[in-house]
Amino acid sequence: MRPVRHVVVVGAGVGGLVAAALLAHEGQAVTVLEQAPLPGGKLRVLDVGGCACDAGPTVFTLRPVFEALFEQLGTRLDAHLQLRPLATLARHVWADGARLDLHADFETTVDAIGRFAGASQADAYRRFCVRSQRVFETLEFAYMRAPRPTPWSLPWRVGWRGLPGLARIAPFTSLWQSLQQCFSDARLQQLFGRYATYCGSSPFQAPATLMLVAHAERAGVWTVEGGMRQLAAALAGLAVRRGAELRCLAPVARLRVASAGVCGVELADGERIDADAVVFNGDVSALRQGLMGDAVVAALPRDRRAQRSLSAITWNLLAPTDGFELAHHTVFFSDAYREEFDAILGQGRLPRAPSVYLCAQDRSDGVVPRGPERLLCLVNAPAHGDGAGLAAKEIDACEQSTFEHLARCGLRLGRSAQPAQRTTPAEFHRLFPGTGGALYGQATHGWRSSFTRPGSRTRIPGLYLAGGSVHPGPGVPMAALSGQLAAQAVLGDLASRTSISTSRAAATPGGISTH
Ligand SMILES: Cc1cc2nc3c(=O)[nH]c(=O)nc-3n(C[C@H](O)[C@H](O)[C@H](O)COP(=O)(O)OP(=O)(O)OC[C@H]3O[C@@H](n4cnc5c(N)ncnc54)[C@H](O)[C@@H]3O)c2cc1C
Repeated sequence: MRPVRHVVVVGAGVGGLVAAALLAHEGQAVTVLEQAPLPGGKLRVLDVGGCACDAGPTVFTLRPVFEALFEQLGTRLDAHLQLRPLATLARHVWADGARLDLHADFETTVDAIGRFAGASQADAYRRFCVRSQRVFETLEFAYMRAPRPTPWSLPWRVGWRGLPGLARIAPFTSLWQSLQQCFSDARLQQLFGRYATYCGSSPFQAPATLMLVAHAERAGVWTVEGGMRQLAAALAGLAVRRGAELRCLAPVARLRVASAGVCGVELADGERIDADAVVFNGDVSALRQGLMGDAVVAALPRDRRAQRSLSAITWNLLAPTDGFELAHHTVFFSDAYREEFDAILGQGRLPRAPSVYLCAQDRSDGVVPRGPERLLCLVNAPAHGDGAGLAAKEIDACEQSTFEHLARCGLRLGRSAQPAQRTTPAEFHRLFPGTGGALYGQATHGWRSSFTRPGSRTRIPGLYLAGGSVHPGPGVPMAALSGQLAAQAVLGDLASRTSISTSRAAATPGGISTH
């Protein structure tokens, strides 16, 4: 039998909850410490007019990642979450009235693209799908599920059979260049380039390998009954049922280090908790900036070239809509796409004419709510929530151009009984310390960036990482994979240590507390 050790998980985001559930399932004593009132991290909920609205991720993809995870935890995904596949994956709109839906059914999408941009572009789409699928399949096991791959380990991991595929994924080409080669229609370049923003990156600087996100979405998009927060609730519930203790409103002020490595944490109120291992699920920039104490600043190598990923401004509102038929996911593209990214990433300001993502949470295929509906609008923004930040005037101007853009595309929003709840980069920075509001860790810009994200292990023994700022990267399924990798690393290292912890003799029964 494996000796029981005590593992503290700092942060109850997806990565932290997955690590906690797996470690508890393997019989370790686990304590999860979360500063917020509820688990979930970015899967957060805002109350608008008495309705709980998702204010974080809305696009649920890569269902098999979660099916495998729940199976590993001895249960089934569909016993915890009701998922419904969307037939319309997303609707895309341009200010001149052009509109294109991507569908779960491949041939329906091919037809739609043919009507939208001509037969040659429909053929180009077929080729793009083959290519993005190949990139996804080449990198799924060799990169995404591997602990901290390097450019040198990839060929070894794909094996000789995978080498031709690896050679074809074009890591040194930008996503934008690759899309220009693939599609002559500028709107399709824009549409498929947008997938870089799922990783908080610019399509003009991201490597072509990020086209794998297009494949992930084509493989299926689901809605979660009750909202994305149900995923956090399910993971937290499983962790607790497997014996973990989950403490909310428990901010960790620093990680404690002894000669042999990390030995515990200290909470903001001075309480000390001993641990044989700590999994840190906050953003790694918090460690680098010394927010978890000077002793762990050197846990990670410095990467001076790393750039913060995108932040966002979001509006949650409850309003009747009219004039434009929204899908569950609708994107209203800006006419000045390159200018949008130049403004945000080059000049650190909000774009004059932002592209707007809108999630109509109460809608799915054929389901149109009557009366006010829950909406989440999102525009990309610079991650300057920690410095001087964005001036209120600039944010107000962005809000005005965002809703004017929706109106130009035909969407009329009726008067809402409650004002929209706006979240700015400064607020995201407050929620996710050390980030400046960057929502996806470091940007994936240039081929190197995919290999410079930290892995689960750090330079300090006993300190592990999980979450969207570490390998394999941001997004709910990737954060879940990082939690699996962290749990694997902790279990492997604890098993190889000879001394048996004196901190705990047996796993404590789980529970959730907020105090
Ligand atoms: C608006 C928005 C939209 C998004 N859209 C999508 C989408 O559609 N699809 C998708 O797949 N992904 C999307 N993402 C990205 C996705 O939500 C994240 O990549 C993922 O949820 C990150 O999980 P994580 O494990 O890094 O934890 P996080 O969600 O970052 O949570 C970390 C947790 O650690 C806690 N914490 C930090 N420091 C401390 C401390 N010192 N003490 C105690 N607790 C601490 C925080 O309070 C937080 O709860 C979106 C993100 C945002 C914000």
